[in-house]
Amino acid sequence: MRALKRYGQNFLVDKNILACIIRRACLSPDDVVLEIGPGHGVLTRALLAENVKCVHAVEIDERMRPELEETAGNDSRLTLHWGDAVKFDYSSLSPFPNKVIANIPYNITTPLLWELLRFAARGMKYHLYMLQKESAMRIIAPEDTKERYPLGVTVQAMGHAVIVRNVPRECFRPVPNVDSVLAEIVLEKNFELACDSLWSEILHRGFSHRRKTLSNNLKDFADVLNYGSMRAEDLTVNEWLEIYGRKKNPSAESC
Ligand code: SAH
Repeated sequence: MRALKRYGQNFLVDKNILACIIRRACLSPDDVVLEIGPGHGVLTRALLAENVKCVHAVEIDERMRPELEETAGNDSRLTLHWGDAVKFDYSSLSPFPNKVIANIPYNITTPLLWELLRFAARGMKYHLYMLQKESAMRIIAPEDTKERYPLGVTVQAMGHAVIVRNVPRECFRPVPNVDSVLAEIVLEKNFELACDSLWSEILHRGFSHRRKTLSNNLKDFADVLNYGSMRAEDLTVNEWLEIYGRKKNPSAESC
């Protein structure tokens, strides 16, 4: 079967990395796992080899049906879902996942993570992803760095992200032409942020013209003026939360 570039197909073939993912995820009998892009099911079967409650897997490529259906036929804890993981209706999943563990297609990283962060309040709080190194660097980028971007600020406002380890290119087939890392995101606060259109509007407008100041990008957000001469990437997470809090709840301003 030919690997499809448009689906970001680089299949994990390294057993040590697989073991490392499983160890890091600290799976327990209460865990309901969501896997995005199971592909041939290598990670899926490693998840099922653990004592987990169940696994939901969302795959777009119908060519994987025979292999994945065989795995599901052998283990009733696996439920397969077919379609685009960016547009998938996660709210319908039952039981609802508390952990996302996935070697995802790199081309959908940003929209997929925005979508999944929306379910933090429902309990989807632990995320362990294989990511393109550059994407992971942007997610953990601190203030005053040019890699900083809205998704990273949001992840940091909701919890914390760490790079667990580098993953050599040779661990995948076909061998990708980008570097990969295993990255962990643990959400622990501000669970509503990713669902709030005001929060994402402030961030996306703030970062929209990177060379312009915040007062330019957020013209009608009068109360950002404290930070007006700064650029979006300079602000700390707490400063973004302050701008958001004042706009969300204007009466708090005079206190
Ligand atoms: N997890 C597997 C495969 C990783 S490759 C492994 O580690 O070996 C990425 C997988 O994501 C492929 O199976 C690809 O078909 C699937 N995929 C790509 N785009 C997708 C999308 N939009 N929604 C769901 N799955 C997708």
